[in-house]
Amino acid sequence: MTLVGEILAVYAARGAGAYFGERVSMSEHALQAAHFAQAERAPEALILAALLHDVGHLLEDVPEAIEDWRTDARHEEVGARWLARRFGPEVSEAVRLHVPAKRYLCATDGAYFGMLSPASVHTLRLQGGPMQPAEIARFEQERFHREAVRVRRWDDQGKVAGLKTAALGDYAAMIQTLAAARGA
Ligand code: FE
Repeated sequence: MTLVGEILAVYAARGAGAYFGERVSMSEHALQAAHFAQAERAPEALILAALLHDVGHLLEDVPEAIEDWRTDARHEEVGARWLARRFGPEVSEAVRLHVPAKRYLCATDGAYFGMLSPASVHTLRLQGGPMQPAEIARFEQERFHREAVRVRRWDDQGKVAGLKTAALGDYAAMIQTLAAARGA
């Protein structure tokens, strides 16, 4: 199967499920995050990172209901490992760091916490809460931490019921180009 076919199959199999505690499906959430990245004219690698930032959720079984989340499923690590085998670090690292980016923003941006949805506040606790100063310093050492913060903000925006977006197949050329760039 081609990489585009593989990605389409992953979303076809699991993407219709609800995005935990929100009014959009996993596929709608992914497409909306990418939509907001494109609206800011982000580089293609970041648009793709936004599109695939939650792929880890679709690759493993996690509880349907947010209330059932008792431990942090670490979907960002699962997704980043999967992506690192297919794309460069400008995609996979932005995804790996998108959950730490939330903890970072909670600690460093006074307005950020107030914008989180109830479901996102719930998972924040499981994810370790706002970063401590030593964690902030370590996060800022990460090469792709700024990119991860951008993906995080698009992630937070991508929860609009009924928003019209492109389709997953519209990203086929971008997927092929970025996968080929890693192979080069
Ligand atoms: Fe997300």
